[in-house]
Amino acid sequence: MIHIILFGPPGCGKGTQAKIIATKFGFSHLSTGMIFRNHMKRKTDLGKTASFYINKGILVPDMITTNMLNIEIQKHFYEKGIIYDGYPRTRNQIFSLEKALKKFCLGTINIIFYFYIQKNLIIDRLLKRGKKSHRNDDTNIITVQRRIEEYNKETSSIWNSDPKWKNNIIKLNASLSVNSISLLIEEKIKNFLNKN
Ligand code: AMP
Repeated sequence: MIHIILFGPPGCGKGTQAKIIATKFGFSHLSTGMIFRNHMKRKTDLGKTASFYINKGILVPDMITTNMLNIEIQKHFYEKGIIYDGYPRTRNQIFSLEKALKKFCLGTINIIFYFYIQKNLIIDRLLKRGKKSHRNDDTNIITVQRRIEEYNKETSSIWNSDPKWKNNIIKLNASLSVNSISLLIEEKIKNFLNKN
């Protein structure tokens, strides 16, 4: 089973690419943000807790996020692969994911697509997206800025925790067109599958 991580700041296009690639290769798409929003819509206890953090633009604590992800992963045991969109976002989440994959004998993290983009471009994109999706955390400029700060502070350098990740990271310029980015991702995944 192949495990592919789409990593980058909010608004970099991870979600869009995750959908395209998951459909193309028949992989599962696992978005922690989407799972949280789903719980919020259904007003579950988890949704109520998560909304406190999400509406502020800060990360949901690791314990809550990881417990949720570990439950979700078990629904995908028999898939060809999983695309992780928005997870991991902290070093602890990397360790937890590695632990879960090992525990269930599901393989290891294979490819990390690392999206990079200028800050002013993502602010524009997020505000535009907020108008369409009515996502609270995309419509308020203060929350949008807070999410970007949170990314820079808590998330952006998590892969430096271990030099082994260097070999798995593929950097992508997120300001290219959706189509050219998905072609690049596709090619890299095909190369990987051919070699393994
Ligand atoms: P996203 O849809 O990926 O932009 O996520 C929306 C919000 O959900 C984030 O701003 C966080 O508050 C929360 N969230 C999503 N994924 C995670 C994660 N891996 N760890 C902590 N919080 C998360």
